Amino acid sequence: MPTTPRVWAYIDETGDRGSGPNSSPVFGMAAVIVDDLSAPELRSAVTTLRTDFGVPAGKVMSWKEHVKNHDRRKRASAVLAGVPNLHVCYVFAVKNEVDPSSYICDPVRFYNFVALETYRSVAGAARDLYGTDARLWTRYGHVRGHDHNTTDAYIRRKSQTDERIPWHMEQGLRWVSADKYLESQAADLYGGFLKAAIWPSGEFGYTESAYLMSIWHQIRASEHCVVPHGLRSMPDTGLVAKMEWFPCRPCPKIPS
Ligand SMILES: [Zn+2]
Repeated sequence: MPTTPRVWAYIDETGDRGSGPNSSPVFGMAAVIVDDLSAPELRSAVTTLRTDFGVPAGKVMSWKEHVKNHDRRKRASAVLAGVPNLHVCYVFAVKNEVDPSSYICDPVRFYNFVALETYRSVAGAARDLYGTDARLWTRYGHVRGHDHNTTDAYIRRKSQTDERIPWHMEQGLRWVSADKYLESQAADLYGGFLKAAIWPSGEFGYTESAYLMSIWHQIRASEHCVVPHGLRSMPDTGLVAKMEWFPCRPCPKIPS
């Protein structure tokens, strides 16, 4: 008897849910999906980067604190790009495109909605890659001040009434602190690769897509395209195709 595939998803958010002038232009999540074979490879890659960047034992490596310059970002994307059989799903909302009276107006709803859309991508990827018998453990990064029980209940309720979401694979959603799994630190860095590409920053407001391009082959693709199941922009899946670095042109999934 072949053993049942075991799949883990680690999810971290990027940006904030605020709407003021100092808040981020996007809010999104990065999900890293690994199996029995790729999980140890990913942990090894994270350990390599922790050593490279001199992260002290017991401290969580993060994009914000340890991966600030181009060399380090290039190194992080190169090392993670080499992890085989790893799949990434991104979901992000472009705030100024979202109807201000919709989910964006309430931080809890905003988080829950993005978390659900991310879950939809993750569970669909796990099913398509590993089959409906696979078991999935989904681990979101813990967010201070947010009651995750509401998100758990929301995703559970939505998934049980949406036959497109293979909820039976899920072994229990968890919200975990960043120091619990090395893989969560990778999710933070993958979030950084997306952030660098879509979020103008620094003195001159440049974006940098090189890191995202390095790991592009790991973004979950179906029918030869990462849109929308591996890379979903909201409210419109076509928004990401308008970004100047978008490499899939013309994109068959996006009507021109
Ligand atoms: Zn495409």
